[in-house]
Amino acid sequence: MVKERARILVVGGGYVGMYTALRLQRRLKRELDRGDVEITVVTPDPYMTYQPFLPEAAAGAISPRHVVVPLRRVLDRCRVLIGEATAVDHAKRTATITTLATEEEGTGGQRLPYDELVLAPGSVSRTLPIPGLADHGIGFKTVEEAIGLRNHVIEQMDIASSTRDPAIRDAALTFVFVGGGFAGVEALGELEDMARYAARYYHNVQPDDMKWILVEASDRILPEVGEEMGRYTVTELRRRNIDVRLRTRLESCADRVAVLSDGARFPTRTVVWTAGVKPHPVLAATDLPRNGRGRLTCTPELSVEGTTHAWAAGDAAAVPDVTASEPGRECAPNAQHAVRQAKVLADNIVHSLRGEPLETYEHAYAGSVASLGLHKGVAHVYGRKLKGYPAWFMHRAYHLSRVPTFNRKARVLAEWALAGLFKREIVSLGSLEHPRAEFELAAGGKPSQDPPHNPKGSS
Ligand SMILES: Cc1cc2nc3c(=O)[nH]c(=O)nc-3n(C[C@H](O)[C@H](O)[C@H](O)COP(=O)(O)OP(=O)(O)OC[C@H]3O[C@@H](n4cnc5c(N)ncnc54)[C@H](O)[C@@H]3O)c2cc1C
Repeated sequence: MVKERARILVVGGGYVGMYTALRLQRRLKRELDRGDVEITVVTPDPYMTYQPFLPEAAAGAISPRHVVVPLRRVLDRCRVLIGEATAVDHAKRTATITTLATEEEGTGGQRLPYDELVLAPGSVSRTLPIPGLADHGIGFKTVEEAIGLRNHVIEQMDIASSTRDPAIRDAALTFVFVGGGFAGVEALGELEDMARYAARYYHNVQPDDMKWILVEASDRILPEVGEEMGRYTVTELRRRNIDVRLRTRLESCADRVAVLSDGARFPTRTVVWTAGVKPHPVLAATDLPRNGRGRLTCTPELSVEGTTHAWAAGDAAAVPDVTASEPGRECAPNAQHAVRQAKVLADNIVHSLRGEPLETYEHAYAGSVASLGLHKGVAHVYGRKLKGYPAWFMHRAYHLSRVPTFNRKARVLAEWALAGLFKREIVSLGSLEHPRAEFELAAGGKPSQDPPHNPKGSS
């Protein structure tokens, strides 16, 4: 029984937002029925993205719709509001929200009062002021970016196949990835594998005509799988003719030439930026405390330090790692923590509403699995190290068990099974990004290059 009526506002519909709301609606079923509790989830997209599947979506192994979970369906007892929190005044228990409607009405943000706040907007790409990066760089955090990148790579192969200009061909077939973490290595591994396969359908593009380059500033890649497995990954990628450059930085990609700190220059149309993340900028528009790196300072119970009724977890939150031997260590920004933190966070909100003692978040990092393309992978989990096919299989089994909802599990499994029977998809549907172009041309207009209206205002 909760003490008084509570309006719970969840900002973000990703790992933390969705799992927190899911658990709250299950644990507070009776209170929701009686109207004692109300849960509102504010998020820019009507779906949660299962980001570990983005590299496979880019490779065409999973269709884009199956790497996302429809929030309205799974959060059927919550109010899902498609929009963005632009500011939070926790002293007044109010968040400012913009939605598509407020944009059209021109009324400015709508003030939403709350009693309990869950702030989980995740992170955004951490970029640097590198010449040309803002104009030509491609991110890899959303399903739109993953599918856009797939279409782009296949399109470059089409350009290379049809041009007579060797310079254009060379630039089209050069793919530069910056950042050797999960996202960069998996995206490169999957896309190179897909392009290598697709090349067999081109009469004049051979796998060895393509240049795939991985640029990493530190002396190792995939720190998540440990040093030994990281070294194995470098050897494995190099064996596939992928040019892995450690202790190297991208210095410029102006005029579509990637210039590296070791002096190398690569004319290219593809610079994929996966060099880390930083907490979402909306955190700066709140009156809540943040640490030096911009994450919300949290207690081990997942409340925001020095406040009451404000909670945070995931990439946006600096949660003390109580399992670490050295003091002051924070939990790393990854899905493994985000999912587990969401559970404790939801339970602690319920405890707090019922006047019960709070739980501490405690999870020792279990290790990681990464896919490097079809039947290729690397893993280091609970002290066990795996390479090649067993690691790839473990990667699939692990993520299949983790992807939310039975519906998504069944669909992903069916797709993998069908891919074993039939050939891989090698088609680019780049024109999906300009669906009106053909009609505009037929109607005598000039096809615009603008993508259709997009709630996030990005293309
Ligand atoms: C390609 C890729 C592969 C990955 N692979 C792995 C892996 O294999 N294993 C692993 O452990 N981790 C992996 N990660 C990391 C993992 O996905 C993140 O750590 C995890 O998503 C963090 O959860 P979160 O809820 O904090 O943020 P997110 O899941 O990113 O959710 C944030 C949500 O907030 C919404 N939002 C943003 N701004 C606002 C706003 N102003 N108002 C309202 N809503 C807002 C966003 O749209 C989003 O829905 C991967 C990440 C990427 C990009």
